[in-house]
Amino acid sequence: MVVGDFPIEVDTLVVGSGPGGYVAAIRAAQLGQKVTIVEKDTIGGVCLNVGCIPSKAMISVGHRFVDAQNADAMGITAKSVELDFSKAMKFKESVVSKLTGGVSGLLKGNKVETVAGEAYFVDANTVRVMTEDSAQTYKFNNVIIATGARPVEIPSFKFTDRVINSTGALNLKELPKKLVVVGGGYIGTELGSAYANLGSEVTILEGADDILAGFEKQMTQIVKKGLKKKGVEVVVKASAKGVEETKDGVVVTYEAKGEEVKIEADYVLVTVGRRPNTDEIGLEGLGLNMTDRGLIEVDKQCRTNVPNVYAIGDIVEGPQLAHKASYEAKVAAEAISGEKSEVDYMAIPAVCFTDPELATVGLNEKQAKDEGYDVVSGKFPFAANGRALSLDATEGFVKLVGRKEDGLLLGAQIVGENASDMIAELGLAIEAGMTLEDISMTIHAHPTLGEISMEAAEVALGKPIHMMTK
Ligand SMILES: Cc1cc2nc3c(=O)[nH]c(=O)nc-3n(C[C@H](O)[C@H](O)[C@H](O)COP(=O)(O)OP(=O)(O)OC[C@H]3O[C@@H](n4cnc5c(N)ncnc54)[C@H](O)[C@@H]3O)c2cc1C
Repeated sequence: MVVGDFPIEVDTLVVGSGPGGYVAAIRAAQLGQKVTIVEKDTIGGVCLNVGCIPSKAMISVGHRFVDAQNADAMGITAKSVELDFSKAMKFKESVVSKLTGGVSGLLKGNKVETVAGEAYFVDANTVRVMTEDSAQTYKFNNVIIATGARPVEIPSFKFTDRVINSTGALNLKELPKKLVVVGGGYIGTELGSAYANLGSEVTILEGADDILAGFEKQMTQIVKKGLKKKGVEVVVKASAKGVEETKDGVVVTYEAKGEEVKIEADYVLVTVGRRPNTDEIGLEGLGLNMTDRGLIEVDKQCRTNVPNVYAIGDIVEGPQLAHKASYEAKVAAEAISGEKSEVDYMAIPAVCFTDPELATVGLNEKQAKDEGYDVVSGKFPFAANGRALSLDATEGFVKLVGRKEDGLLLGAQIVGENASDMIAELGLAIEAGMTLEDISMTIHAHPTLGEISMEAAEVALGKPIHMMTK
């Protein structure tokens, strides 16, 4: 039955409640707007439900499991360490539901009206929101589109119960004995690594000549060493050809070094990219400028070529990352409210939660040189830091890249324990226009991993205390 349809008028409509949409809705409401947010699935979007958060929960479970079995060097021998996979999944679910419940509470607390249903654009001021048995028209002054992205499906690997995407991998009922991952980007490598820590035998097939494109080779080498240590086989320049399902598993065929190889597994996880959700929401009639990849073109205020239509997150250019979506969300909400906010992507961090973690912000050395900078750089190893030693986490380094003439910090790369948290200081330093000297003269608590950044700055300046210079 379709319920009778008097349009509901709203000030600002937000479509999608991921880290883009819900943040935009809250900020717009804080600025005094009457906001309605439409979500067709679960509040929190990919990030909270089937992305960043559940994957990190699974990664943490893997770390606890591995640590419990490998504390010998510290004098701890666990007699029997067992994994209850369904309990691990329940832990993951509890983390997700705490956060999604929290976001729902925040939306309510900020008087944002939440509407469940699928939004379909009629024109640049109207959407229809449909559920299974109803449809309602909404008229809005401004809209922020934040519909996110979904896994790319390749024809030779159609998704099934055994041929899974990241959502499937985060919702398995059993621990795979053997898992093949097609695609060695950050999602495939993180999940492959987590399952290896939990006890699965993992093979990663990557088409390019290295995994984790976007991170420097000197960083990915260390992750590859870590993967090898946990028994993960990484096959690069491998072309995944197809998959056959057997009674209780799959046989994946790939080609590498001119040979065709067949590999049996319980599941094959396909993570070869994510396509923007811009193709099935009625945008055709709006006349928006789009890229060839289906991304919506926006200006520095996240405004499209149609002045009352804004777009943020995974559906616009740039890295598909939650913190980028939330950043754009604040800018778009403020722009709609008449503020002068604009995006500046100089210091977007990117993190990969592998073992050890990778993190980068700003420019790496090559990028800085390519942009015409005369650079100076400094690299300091975790192995020479007291805290890293006491954590038994000595793999990795911090590298800082500065402008030669004045030491202005241009970028930072970290591979090592807790790189994901350490990168924040360096992002802030770039944002604040700080120099290598500023970092080296900032008092860092001792003994902490943060000191490695200070020491890397000293190396770049040619005056390290805890390292001999030639
Ligand atoms: C396994 C995995 C791990 C990840 N890990 C990280 C990480 O560690 N760090 C990080 O920064 N990023 C990570 N990401 C990426 C991150 O999840 C995305 O970049 C982020 O969620 C994008 O936010 P968004 O708001 O643009 O879209 P989404 O989070 O995708 O939210 C979009 C929402 O819009 C809804 N929607 C779509 N169409 C409609 C419609 N027509 N009507 C109503 N609602 C609609 C969807 O249901 C969805 O809830 C990960 C992704 C995956 C898959």
